[in-house]
Amino acid sequence: MAVERTLSIIKPDATNRNLTGAINAKFEAAGLRIVAQKRIWMSRAHAKEFYKVHAHRPFFNDLVDFMVSGPVVVQVLEGENAVAKNRELMGATDPKKAASGTIRAMFAESIEANSVHGSDSPENAAIEIAYFFAGYEIVG
Ligand code: ADP
Ligand code: MG
Repeated sequence: MAVERTLSIIKPDATNRNLTGAINAKFEAAGLRIVAQKRIWMSRAHAKEFYKVHAHRPFFNDLVDFMVSGPVVVQVLEGENAVAKNRELMGATDPKKAASGTIRAMFAESIEANSVHGSDSPENAAIEIAYFFAGYEIVG
């Protein structure tokens, strides 16, 4: 297994409920290191571009509205197998289907307001990290 980096976003439903520390405690307890982090309020254009792979999906407009409804914390997690490990810690997209103990099972409000984003492959992780962070902002 290789040391990888992945993009994590703590979504507006979670920042609104003051859950950033509780969520990040789970990443750190699992051995993932936060090597870059910032709290931002995404513009609509920024959110649409980030989620453009879903542009044809029926939930796209609602998803963009949700992602710009409050601040988010964007961060880079680093560790062994970080992409898959983060997805495992997050749990399934729909919190009703997420395994118990996962972040979404514990904290998500709905399939849309599901508290966290995580890159789904190392290739997409590289693209997503570059979308939010310059190299000098990532400090391993
Ligand atoms: P994941 O975040 O688990 O990788 P997707 O990439 O399929 O899930 O979807 C991106 C985001 O779009 C989800 O995290 C969720 O916020 C939202 N979403 C996905 N499916 C639905 C749906 N059926 N209805 C409403 N929102 C959805
Ligand atoms: Mg996805």
